[in-house]
Amino acid sequence: MVDARKVKDMVAKKSSQFMGSMTGTGKMPPHKHCRICHEAIPIKADPRVCKNQECIDQHEKDEKNQKAVRIAMFVFFGIFAIPYILVLVTRVLG
Ligand SMILES: [Zn+2]
Repeated sequence: MVDARKVKDMVAKKSSQFMGSMTGTGKMPPHKHCRICHEAIPIKADPRVCKNQECIDQHEKDEKNQKAVRIAMFVFFGIFAIPYILVLVTRVLG
């Protein structure tokens, strides 16, 4: 799921942004960056993507993935938590 090259790319971009703010080149009006291609976008942009259709599609895909991951985590948590809670309850009652 995690693309190592993408992560490296992101880290490189993040650190170059950091260097920009250190050297004063980061003095830009408040803005956000497209979370897909890191293009500068208006601060009010919602969702946080540029107008590029590829980015919009990718963002939608990510949203769906995140929802799936959240549900999966919830289910896993439930699977592990229910026996634990049952044990606690039976201990309290017993
Ligand atoms: Zn974009």
